[in-house]
Amino acid sequence: MRIGVPREIKNHEYRVGLTPTAVAELVRHGHEVRVEYEAGAAIGFADSDYLAAGARMAGVEEVFSQSEMIVKVKEPQEVERGRLGPQHVLFTYLHLAPDRPQTKGLLASGALCIAYETVTDSRGGLPLLAPMSEVAGRMAVQAGAGCLEKARGGRGVLLGGVPGVPRGKVVILGGGVVGSNALAMAVGLGADVTVLDKNPDVLRQLDARYGNRINTLYSTAGTLEEQLLGADLVVGAVLVPGAAAPKLISKDLVSRMQAGAVLVDVAIDQGGCAETSRATTHADPTFIIDGVVHYCVANMPGAVARTATQALNNATLPFVLALANKGAKRALEEDAHLRQGLNVAAGKLANVSVGEALGMPA
Ligand code: NAD
Repeated sequence: MRIGVPREIKNHEYRVGLTPTAVAELVRHGHEVRVEYEAGAAIGFADSDYLAAGARMAGVEEVFSQSEMIVKVKEPQEVERGRLGPQHVLFTYLHLAPDRPQTKGLLASGALCIAYETVTDSRGGLPLLAPMSEVAGRMAVQAGAGCLEKARGGRGVLLGGVPGVPRGKVVILGGGVVGSNALAMAVGLGADVTVLDKNPDVLRQLDARYGNRINTLYSTAGTLEEQLLGADLVVGAVLVPGAAAPKLISKDLVSRMQAGAVLVDVAIDQGGCAETSRATTHADPTFIIDGVVHYCVANMPGAVARTATQALNNATLPFVLALANKGAKRALEEDAHLRQGLNVAAGKLANVSVGEALGMPA
């Protein structure tokens, strides 16, 4: 199959659809890969790396016009949608539910559009979203530890403590993909960590893995309040699938937290789990309310675009290979989980939940 990888053009997007390693794998399977000049240059994947992997470097027009499948990271921007046609398979993050103009543009293009975020796995998970949650979870503790420093408005607490001085107290709300990755980092730094979740099975699994190195607590308004009042760093990592994040932390509770405590609200991309949270950017990531430093960056993995690209490719490559080896029609017929990723086909919406969210029939 002829596969095309354009350079991402969305503002501050440095990730790339395929790494040189992934390209080499596709070339080994007999496929032809065109990569736009400088597509990976910002994150250390030089054009020479792609050439060594067997890719052809090309201008953007050639990448689109000569490819049957386009592999990207972000949803196509308007100018990119104009380059898509019925001959294309598009494989990328789309997030169509809140985005009517994008949906209409893709319907009009006639392309077959498969969205990373709705591909499923046999355990009911979202395997192409999970890598970004892993990155965000691990970053949350790193970002939070920095915010605890005095110069950033924090309490001046070192999470690991030192001999003779207590460790910092980390409270993680939600023990899913983000929460368990934040937990791994916090434990690694030697912090005193408590995880709250309302799913007892999640707490059981974490307890089995970490034993008495962590505390697990069933999440209620009471346990949450008690924990937050003594916390140095709080990581908000809750998710109710398909809904806005529950507002577990009231404005009043924030005002009673320790001055200089830090809240990293990873759930901000779903609205955030604190009443005081509002989305911020990497350029200006924090603000302070009632002495509590809020870090609420909605696209945390963007800051570590090289790691994020590699993690994303590990998850997408098997699907890219299946689509290329079998052709999209057969790959979709044979894999019900990949089929869940199909959002737009032949000018029609193909995903029921996306259709419901948009009020358009699928
Ligand atoms: P997940 O489904 O793996 O985990 C969510 C956990 O929250 C589950 O274990 C669930 O039981 C728990 N939960 C739900 N309600 C709760 C409550 N009231 N109290 C305690 N726990 C509760 O989801 P995830 O992949 O870990 O994602 C978490 C959030 O992080 C999502 O909102 C996701 O969109 C967001 N996210 C943000 C970024 C970013 O850059 N900001 C990146 C990736 C993911």
